[in-house]
Amino acid sequence: MRPQIDLAQRAGLATDRGVLVNEYLETSAADVYAAGDVAQVRDPRTGGTWLETLWPTARMQGQVAGANMAGSRTVCTRGVLFNAVRIGGIVTATIGSLERSLDQDLLMVTANDVETWRQGPGIWMAEHADEVSRVRILVGERTIVGAVVMGDQSPARPLLQMVENGADVTSIRAGLQADPARGVELVAEFYLERYTG
Ligand SMILES: Cc1cc2nc3c(=O)[nH]c(=O)nc-3n(C[C@H](O)[C@H](O)[C@H](O)COP(=O)(O)OP(=O)(O)OC[C@H]3O[C@@H](n4cnc5c(N)ncnc54)[C@H](O)[C@@H]3O)c2cc1C
Repeated sequence: MRPQIDLAQRAGLATDRGVLVNEYLETSAADVYAAGDVAQVRDPRTGGTWLETLWPTARMQGQVAGANMAGSRTVCTRGVLFNAVRIGGIVTATIGSLERSLDQDLLMVTANDVETWRQGPGIWMAEHADEVSRVRILVGERTIVGAVVMGDQSPARPLLQMVENGADVTSIRAGLQADPARGVELVAEFYLERYTG
């Protein structure tokens, strides 16, 4: 996706790939803010910038920009990535970070179908059984850092919740390492125990 920045450029705002804004979503011009697909946001922690063309991000940035326009000083921080698309008829959700190269200690567990997810209350159930269902979970040193859910989307929200909360999965890490084939099942059991009581 390519942000439409021509109007901003013609108005003399600082741009790069998008409209450049600071962590308060202020552009280079006083009292002019940018949010959503068009905003390229400075990250004060890294000194770099980020541009994320996703709906939840646009919504969050709209709220931050609106609050700041109304006199607040709310910082815009990057949330956990979540995206769902239909590829070849199969819904595929990507959650969090899938960059294997970021951490040498990352552990990857995969499974085709895990019933356990569907036992929790309030879990987003798929309406139809999909021909292809696959879950891949990336586990860092202490937390789940990312996941891919293809087909049946029952695990998507639980996994998003655990990535967002930084759920400490140290207690099951040894089990995941010992038996990666049962890894997704272990994560599902962990979720049911910790999050649904
Ligand atoms: C095919 C497709 C699939 C997507 N799938 C997903 C998905 O699965 N998950 C997800 O999270 N996100 C998805 N997105 C991204 C998501 O749609 C965007 O991140 C989100 O809509 C951005 O909101 P926004 O308000 O920043 O921009 P937009 O929704 O693009 O709104 C900007 C508006 O400004 C108007 N505009 C532009 N220039 C001017 C001008 N000069 N004057 C007046 N009006 C102007 C435009 O017409 C538009 O209505 C998808 C996008 C596309 C295109």
